Amino acid sequence: MIAQYRSSCQNPTLDTMNFEALIDICGSDRVRTDSSTLVAYSVDATVGYRGNPSAVIFPINSNEIRRVFALCSSQGWNIVVRGGGTSLAGGAVPSDHGIVMSTELLDTKPIVDAQSMTISAGAGVTTADLQTAAAKKGLFFPPDPSSQSVAMLGGNLATNAGGSFALKYGVIRDYVLTIEAVTPSGDIVIARRGDPTEPLLDLMIGSEGTLGLIISATLRLIRPPPTVSTIVARFYTADQAMNATVEILKMGVVPGRMEFMDEVSIAAVQLARDYGLANTKALLILELHGTEKDVTQKTKVVLSALNRNGSQKPLAPATFEEATVAWNARSAITSSLARLKPGKIGEDICVPRSKLPRALREISKISTEVDLLIAVFGHVGDGTLHPNVSYDPSSMSECQRMKKALSKIAEIGIALGGVLSGEHGIGRVKLPYVDKAYDQSTIAAMASIKKAFDPLGVLNPNLTWKEKVTDYPPKTAHQQA
Ligand SMILES: Cc1cc2nc3c(=O)[nH]c(=O)nc-3n(C[C@H](O)[C@H](O)[C@H](O)COP(=O)(O)OP(=O)(O)OC[C@H]3O[C@@H](n4cnc5c(N)ncnc54)[C@H](O)[C@@H]3O)c2cc1C
Repeated sequence: MIAQYRSSCQNPTLDTMNFEALIDICGSDRVRTDSSTLVAYSVDATVGYRGNPSAVIFPINSNEIRRVFALCSSQGWNIVVRGGGTSLAGGAVPSDHGIVMSTELLDTKPIVDAQSMTISAGAGVTTADLQTAAAKKGLFFPPDPSSQSVAMLGGNLATNAGGSFALKYGVIRDYVLTIEAVTPSGDIVIARRGDPTEPLLDLMIGSEGTLGLIISATLRLIRPPPTVSTIVARFYTADQAMNATVEILKMGVVPGRMEFMDEVSIAAVQLARDYGLANTKALLILELHGTEKDVTQKTKVVLSALNRNGSQKPLAPATFEEATVAWNARSAITSSLARLKPGKIGEDICVPRSKLPRALREISKISTEVDLLIAVFGHVGDGTLHPNVSYDPSSMSECQRMKKALSKIAEIGIALGGVLSGEHGIGRVKLPYVDKAYDQSTIAAMASIKKAFDPLGVLNPNLTWKEKVTDYPPKTAHQQA
């Protein structure tokens, strides 16, 4: 949710912030101002973005949240809501001198109703705990950001998280039945799917913490697929992998998962460990879900399409061990990119699938132009690509070229009829490109919604107006402290 107006909450009383008032509300052990806490909460998972908060608070119920919102509104302090802090769009990076409101203690344990096939939990419960609670009752919770062991339900809802299962099963919005949230004006909103409050529910999902703090939610669960078969296809060029993707989907097969790794991603993971991909220039990992008969039939169709598009031979469904190695390589990309350069920053453009081959070629041209490696991977079946620019944050030249690459990648996504963000949200990283992606009247309409919920701009002000990208090179945590 982006809104082009300036917050009136500019943290005016920076030096004299009345922490006592916050302590009155939350208690002294849940209002932290020590330097190690402030440094830990000054960043999220986005390299190169940081803010210096004055306090980090850990509310435990809606009453405390309402009172903090009222206090901040009266004092002109702003708040950035934070879940697991795994945002890759700078969405949970605080403002200088503002307050971080952590949802970690809103961790009411998941309750699974196996009869109704639903799960209810607090915003601070991790995605992995939701998945485990569902699995224990023989059920399946498909939203699966790869950050699931740290990312939280509230953050997943606020970003409308997807993941590798999104192609077949949809994103988290498709599972939400009820959301409870507190708005900056102190209203407690309980919005449900299928009743007149439904539009409020859809406004809160994907609002990136700009409209309110989500406290808890109830979501739908489904039955897991009875049969799963994995195919690992190696290619000599990225073009072949992209063409195979387009053809498979055109033939009406919707894999449970369909992940892509390009040459740079493969080289990075191979530097960390030998995944047996030394001679591979592009990789597709496909999972087919369904009944045994259905999976057998789809496997034939997929193998023939992969063969036609130049996949390396021999090609057959992967053994359990081969599939595990391939999925481990896919999971290792983010951490392995540090082997190439100390910094990396990614986008998550999402383009029409027919434009995937072209998007890959354009990104490759950008990489040559700025003379920086760009690793491209992602949930290619739904058109989502994660181009990650690899750079050295201590080099001013590389920082400038990295910013140029990010801008050009955003332009490519838009020019090909896609969107700026397939799943991570706009955050701070993509805010500079919002004017290119949306017309002014659409932005104005979104600003009106923001104003209606948060007239003073208390919540996540960094996501609500255009601001300069953090100066580069970014200061280290030590310099900032
Ligand atoms: C290795 C890695 C892999 C990833 N893979 C995926 C992926 O496959 N798919 C995907 O979608 N994302 C992925 N992400 C991005 C990220 O994990 C998701 O956006 C996730 O949903 C964020 O959850 P979080 O709890 O960490 O939220 P945070 O990072 O803490 O916050 C994200 C945004 O949500 C807001 N927010 C957080 N909690 C609340 C709340 N309770 N109420 C209101 N607003 C709130 C914050 O203000 C911020 O704007 C990945 C990240 C990493 C590091």
